[in-house]
Amino acid sequence: MVTYRSTMVERIDLPSRETRERRLEEAGYNVFNLPAEDVFIDLLTDSGTGTMSTDQWAALIRGDESYAGSRSFDRLESAVEDVMGFPHIVPAHQGRGAENVLYGTLLAEGDVVLNNTHFDTTRAHIANQGADPVDCPVDAAFDLEAGETDAREFAGNFSLERARAVVDDAGADAVPVVIQTITNNSAAGQPVSVENTRRVREFADEIDATFVLDACRFAENAAFVREREAEFSDASIDEIAREQLGYADALVMSGKKDGLANIGGFVATTDVDLFERCKQRAILYEGFPTYGGMAGRDMDAMAVGLREAVEDAYATDRIEQVRTFGRLLEDAGVPIYTPVGGHAVYVDAGTALSHLPPEEFPGQALVCELYREGGVRGVELGSFAFPNTDRPELVRLALPRRTYHREHLEHVAETATAVLEKREAVSGLELASEPPIPELRHFTAELRPVSR
Ligand SMILES: *Cc1c(COP(=O)(O)O)cnc(C)c1O
Repeated sequence: MVTYRSTMVERIDLPSRETRERRLEEAGYNVFNLPAEDVFIDLLTDSGTGTMSTDQWAALIRGDESYAGSRSFDRLESAVEDVMGFPHIVPAHQGRGAENVLYGTLLAEGDVVLNNTHFDTTRAHIANQGADPVDCPVDAAFDLEAGETDAREFAGNFSLERARAVVDDAGADAVPVVIQTITNNSAAGQPVSVENTRRVREFADEIDATFVLDACRFAENAAFVREREAEFSDASIDEIAREQLGYADALVMSGKKDGLANIGGFVATTDVDLFERCKQRAILYEGFPTYGGMAGRDMDAMAVGLREAVEDAYATDRIEQVRTFGRLLEDAGVPIYTPVGGHAVYVDAGTALSHLPPEEFPGQALVCELYREGGVRGVELGSFAFPNTDRPELVRLALPRRTYHREHLEHVAETATAVLEKREAVSGLELASEPPIPELRHFTAELRPVSR
C-alpha cells in the first residue's frame, strides 16, 4: 500500500521518435550520454534520484554550514547511531568517497579483498589501491535457470565456500578486509540473510580481517529479511537493520540509496583507531571530518532520510513497488530475473535478444531499443559493464524511491513488449571508443551498431 502522496511535481515529456533516434546516435549508443530532459521514464539508477519528503525539505532549511562542529553533523551522527548503531562517522560526498576513505585506509598493494559481489565503484577503488577484489557470490546468484527455489530466497548471500577457497590459496594474511554488500546490487539486488552476515562475521574473525558492510540498501535488505527469515518475521525493519549492521566493524554508506537523499555518504565504525585514521584521509580527499564533502543542509536531509528509510510502511512499500513492476513486465512476456530484488528489475537480455552474441552486447542493444521505442532509460550490467567476466546479460531497470507511479511502470512494460515484438530486427553494437579504466568503461565508452 502506498503511504505517501505527491506534494510537488515535475513535468516530463516523451520526445518525438525522430528526436530519440538522433539523441541515441549523438550519445554514441551510451545512454549515460543522453540529456536527461530527453528521457521520459528514467530508470538509469535509484542513486540520488528519489523524491525527498516534506520533512526532508524542511530539514534543509535548518542546515548549519559551519566549517567545523556544525549542528547538521551532530544530527547526522545521532541518526546514524540511532538507526544503524554506529557511534563514529566520517561523512563523504557520496558512497565512493567513503570507499576511497575506508579502503585507502585499510588496504595496501597486493592485498586480496573478498565480497559477495563488488559493486563497480568498490571494485575500482580496491583495484586503485593495488589490491585484488574477488567476488564470492553463491551459485544461485547468477543462475538464471534456478527460478524461484529456496536457494533464491537469499541469492545475494556471501559464499563462505568460495571465500575459504581463496584464503586456502592466498593465505589468511593476504586478506585484510571482507565485505558484504546488502542488498547485493551487482547480483540483481538480491537480499542477504542475517544468518549469512553472522557467518561472515565468524569467518572474518577466523582470518583476523576487518568486516565491512556495504550498507547502501540496508533498509530494503531488512524488508526482505522480515519476509523470508523466520527468526525475524515479527521484528520491525529498524530492529532488523540494527541487528544485521551490528555484526560489522565498519560500514560504507551511500546516502543516495537508503539515505533517501540526493547526495552524500559516510563511513561509520565502532573502531576508534580506524575512525581516527579515516578522518586523516577524509581531510585529504573529502573535507573536514564534520562535513566531509557535504553541505550542512545535505547532512540534515540525509539524517531525516535515514530515519524514514527504516519506517515499516516505507520499506515494505518500496520492495512491493519493485515487485509490482516485475510482475507487469512478466505479464508482458519480458524475461526477468526472479525473484525480483530490492531496487530494480533485471531483464534477461541474453534471452530477450538471443540472436545477439555477447560480443555484440545484447544488454546494451536492449537498453538502446527501450530508449528508442519509449524514451525509457535503463542500464546494461552484462558484458559491456563487466568485460572479461561470464556474467549473464542483464539490463537493470532501477526504480527511484517514491517517484514513479503505476502508470509510468505500465508505460515501461508496454515499451518492452513493443521492442520484443520486433526483436529480430534489433542489431548488435560494437565499441567505437574505450576509456582507459576498463572497470568503468560503461560510463563513458561509445558504441556503434554492428554493420552486416
Ligand atoms: C551506489 C553504490 C556505491 C557507491 O555509492 P555512490 O554514492 O554512487 O558513490 C557503493 N556500493 C554500492 C552497493 C552501491 O550501490
